[in-house]
Amino acid sequence: MRIVSGMRPTGKLHLGHYLGVIKKWLELQASNDSKSYFFVADWHALSTTYEDKLNLKNLSIELVKDWLSCGIDPEKSVIFIQSHVKYHAELYMLLNMITPLGWLERNPTYKEQIANLDGKDIHTAGFLTYPVLQAADVILYDADFVPIGEDQRPHLEITREVVRRFHHLYNSNIFKEPKEILSPTSRLLGLDGRKMSKSYNNSIYLTESSDAIFKKIKTAITDTQRVKKTDAGNPKVCLVNTYHEEFSTKETIDYIQDGCINAKIGCMECKKLCFESIDKFIAPIREKRATIDDKIALEIALDGSSKANEEAKIKMEYINHTIFNIE
Ligand code: SF4
Repeated sequence: MRIVSGMRPTGKLHLGHYLGVIKKWLELQASNDSKSYFFVADWHALSTTYEDKLNLKNLSIELVKDWLSCGIDPEKSVIFIQSHVKYHAELYMLLNMITPLGWLERNPTYKEQIANLDGKDIHTAGFLTYPVLQAADVILYDADFVPIGEDQRPHLEITREVVRRFHHLYNSNIFKEPKEILSPTSRLLGLDGRKMSKSYNNSIYLTESSDAIFKKIKTAITDTQRVKKTDAGNPKVCLVNTYHEEFSTKETIDYIQDGCINAKIGCMECKKLCFESIDKFIAPIREKRATIDDKIALEIALDGSSKANEEAKIKMEYINHTIFNIE
């Protein structure tokens, strides 16, 4: 089975990205019966950051370095950059011709993002139609499955509707209707208890030094009702406990939960153990990243883009034949 998935190059990856996306990608990559295409969605990034003058070339390479550091392997998966495969744009244009505006305007994610992206003017054709670009991204490679979060479900439904409409209009059957692989929503919140996000300055990055991780964990909010070590705490309402549950061993989790509930340990001891667990998790990623320079990452991305181009070219020939050579 074929898997296609992309990620926008908008900055360093943090633990939330790892648990929400990369972990699932690694599972899929490890499966013997699947071939995965992972792409840097630099054109998608423009749909919300076109005014920000980001250096998308550098950010794309940094993203590839993050993926490689986490274990995404170019021997097993095709790693490429969307804008290096111009067929995505060609198919996007053709699909835009047949996609009714109402499907895009009714998209709940579109409405929600328009309401929430404060200070950004995203009333653009590119933002309204980016689900069509997503459709092109996956059907170009005959994806069987697309790993997505819950919020992306309406987009994949638009992809399937676009496929059906294309087949109906051109009396063909050339695309697959991709199914979803739902990634569990990452429960990992930022250090201040809000969603882990670069814009809230509350993230722990996969490139973080031990020292930086320790300093950050020290600032993490805890059970606000627990003021002194002698107060019994409640791990169920404590952010640090959620970090332990993701990164610590069962023994450590049992130790800190018992220590918290029965007022046997202080929050600083608990945070120190939390730091050790997170640092242990990040250390190999950090070490591997130090061995990957920009040149290596660029070569891998160019090689992957060349493979993606070859496949996309063949598919695009079929698509153009279907549209323009109607008998
Ligand atoms: S001991 Fe740990 S789990 Fe309990 S409130 Fe303090 S930081 Fe949170």
